[in-house]
Amino acid sequence: MFRDTSIIGVLADYAGEGLPISAFTDLDERLGSTFKFKGPSPLYITANQGEEGHLREVFLNTTKSGSTIHGMSEALGRVISVTLQHDYRLIGKIARTLEDISSDSAWISGKLGRVYSIPAALAKVLEFYAKHETNGDPDPYPGPSPYSACPFCGKLTLCRSGGCSQCISCGFSSC
Ligand SMILES: [Zn+2]
Repeated sequence: MFRDTSIIGVLADYAGEGLPISAFTDLDERLGSTFKFKGPSPLYITANQGEEGHLREVFLNTTKSGSTIHGMSEALGRVISVTLQHDYRLIGKIARTLEDISSDSAWISGKLGRVYSIPAALAKVLEFYAKHETNGDPDPYPGPSPYSACPFCGKLTLCRSGGCSQCISCGFSSC
């Protein structure tokens, strides 16, 4: 029996390979919208579109500059912007990866509803744009990520297989 002991490439996602995508262009002027969520402190999420209306960057702004939450929110926006500039079609998959995250507070947007964390608020904004993104074409990255956070090492490399969950980073197994 062949047993693959290498984890290189395990996380690779080839679903979108071969499909043409438009490259990111650093435009001088971008069309954008800012969504306000009311919460423990106001949360502003700005979503900017690039060429052909694809969402290419997001900015999160909340609480006072220099705080941990402010820094983490800014980091989340930057990382997702890098991802969307690489491949805007990941928008739906990113939204589904973030939507079920909860925290100790709620944020409410008049337009997008109630959420229970800052990442979930971002998921709402991404989902709003994702609806227009596929243009009737099938989403090349369907479904949520098959990986979740490992309770032992914390990496997003816990994979469900049969009735067990196993971490491909540290070897943790729920069975
Ligand atoms: Zn692990």
